[in-house]
Amino acid sequence: MNIIQAAVIDFNKIKITVDNFSEFMTSKFQIMNNDEIIPVERISTNDNMAILILSNEINIKKECSLIYDNTLNIKCNYYRLFSSEAFNSRYFYDGKLGIEYNVHKTKFKVWSPVASSVNLLLYKNGDVAVTETPTKIHMSEEEKGIWTVIVNENLDGFFYTYEVEAYNKINEAVDPYAKALGVNGLRGAVINMNDTDPKDWDKDFSPNNLESFTDAVIYEISIRDVTINPNSGVINKGKFLGLTDEHTLSVNNLPTALNHMLELGVTHVQIMPMFDFSYNSVDEKNPIKYNWGYDPQNYNAPEGSYATNPYDPKCRILELKQMVQAFHKNGLSINMDVVYNHMISVGESNFSKIFPGYYFRRWNDGALTNGSGCGNDTASENKMMRKFIVDSVLYWTKEYHLDGFRFDLMGIHDIDTMNLIRKGLDEFNRPIMLYGEGWELTTNIPKESKAIIANSSKTPKIGYFNDIIRDSVKGSVFYFKDGGFVNGKQGLEDKIKLSVIGCIDGYSEALKGVFTSPEQSVNYVSCHDNNTLWDKINHTNESENEQLKMDRHKLALGIVLTSQGIPFLHSGCEFCRTKNGVEDSYNSRDSINWIDWDRKYQYLDVFNFTKCLVELRKYHPAFRMTSSQEIKKNIMFINNTPKNTIAFVLNDPSGKDNWKRIMVIYNANNSSVNIPLPDGTWNLVVNKHSSNINTIKIAEHNINVDNIDINVLYSEA
Ligand code: CA
Repeated sequence: MNIIQAAVIDFNKIKITVDNFSEFMTSKFQIMNNDEIIPVERISTNDNMAILILSNEINIKKECSLIYDNTLNIKCNYYRLFSSEAFNSRYFYDGKLGIEYNVHKTKFKVWSPVASSVNLLLYKNGDVAVTETPTKIHMSEEEKGIWTVIVNENLDGFFYTYEVEAYNKINEAVDPYAKALGVNGLRGAVINMNDTDPKDWDKDFSPNNLESFTDAVIYEISIRDVTINPNSGVINKGKFLGLTDEHTLSVNNLPTALNHMLELGVTHVQIMPMFDFSYNSVDEKNPIKYNWGYDPQNYNAPEGSYATNPYDPKCRILELKQMVQAFHKNGLSINMDVVYNHMISVGESNFSKIFPGYYFRRWNDGALTNGSGCGNDTASENKMMRKFIVDSVLYWTKEYHLDGFRFDLMGIHDIDTMNLIRKGLDEFNRPIMLYGEGWELTTNIPKESKAIIANSSKTPKIGYFNDIIRDSVKGSVFYFKDGGFVNGKQGLEDKIKLSVIGCIDGYSEALKGVFTSPEQSVNYVSCHDNNTLWDKINHTNESENEQLKMDRHKLALGIVLTSQGIPFLHSGCEFCRTKNGVEDSYNSRDSINWIDWDRKYQYLDVFNFTKCLVELRKYHPAFRMTSSQEIKKNIMFINNTPKNTIAFVLNDPSGKDNWKRIMVIYNANNSSVNIPLPDGTWNLVVNKHSSNINTIKIAEHNINVDNIDINVLYSEA
């Protein structure tokens, strides 16, 4: 006989599972809580499960065990209680958390209904390596598990942590709501946030004038990768400030870093983790080790290794704002890559130190889920975790004037959380992007409530990385040698057509999509994960000459930039970025991850082609249709073209473009093809040799398209 699990489901109810109930006598169950026995009032059984109704409430500040006949003893887990209505009605707190500072006093507020005592520890140093005895100030518990204290002094410049006692363990934790940090993020900092605003910050506005999210062209960078190469021409290498200079040049006098992004003409720069990530990954005191930063430590403050002085808590905030200001001044918007789905580890997480057992998702038996593949998943379905994520996103939006958010492994989160964020962002009354990775992962929330592509109809105005276009254009990310349309794989015509229409649902019987709007489709062929596009082509088309590989590369980018939806470019793809075949370079050295600006000169032809297509897209609304209805009405595929070719006509949906009709042809064959043209006179304006949008030739009736090429033509009638 065995007790399999015991889960507290209400303050006076425990659900138990045993292997064989017939071997148990119900009168022999007891609950031990706080060294006291709580009598079982009654038991209702159902097969090998039973609900024990207790005569008194359980004290959740103490551990609780189920005892049978003084022989079997199992710890009851509280996990299911924490997501229950009973718990939420008693402890969900909708007010402000964190600190409220002014020059006369600071109020500290932290939530932990299970803590038995909480002390505020005040330090003069932000560095834990400096020996110091902190001032300890007792905090008192108010309603809903909120612990508070007010210190009537000007605490600007002090550092703080919370000493939390829960279940007979004492932990020192950083406030999860801390806006400022000491070096390596091991202490929070009390600061006057006014000191972190650069000059004219009140005049900084988002340049973002998107009418539809499909107007955006996203460019993904890491602060470090784009600045740290000795050939970047950037002074503050690896720092936020390295991206405030819009005049940097390479040795070949070609624009680099911010200057380069402006030249390329993208609208939104997506920045890989710039919140505080683990000091184990990158030591802020000596940032030699490289890491992408997908291992969150503190969510509400910037990463210190990107600041010129990580010891000064104001510095990282000021410098990040200076970067935002430089981007905005130059008309660029910033999307922040956020990683709320997991943390560096459950044990090291400040959340767990403050309220063990609440913030991370578990299976019903109490074991941690690991859909993220990083050892843990946060529990967005638990209302205070959900509140934290929403508060955090809105805080970054307001304080740092950000323009969008990219959610790492968004499929770990539930749709209610994502829709609440959408609602909060909409209240800023400017178009703020929200999109993420909607992969379905194995975690303990029902499939129908996951923020995954299959549920995209339930999350309007939230975008998803589109793996249909990613894998059909250039091959699967999971199979090394698998190619796609541009690499010469056969039979992908319908998948490419589906990609062209932004994978919207309901276009035709043959093309079955997944999205309700093109604003939900983030179109890409490469990003920081997996091989770069160039490395992928080098695997799949290894024996070919460089010119042919470049043609394939251009065709892939050409498809992304002429498809409906939101194009997304991995930085450096516009000049054939390589990571020397390292697929998962999250902790590889700089020389693998950095952008090599010499390649811009070497592959200038590819860069100019990409730039030309970005421009094409920005000037012609037919590439940026705003709804499924528009797409259904205005895109026609030409039938019966040769194998491995796609040809389609876009009607101008705006009625304002001189280009009344645009025709796009992709030829993935190794030989040229002849494609019939619809009636009218057509100007060929783009092919693989283009570096600007000028008429190359006039065509009627048909056009001969070169091997591995894209042609764009327009007609004024
Ligand atoms: Ca850090």
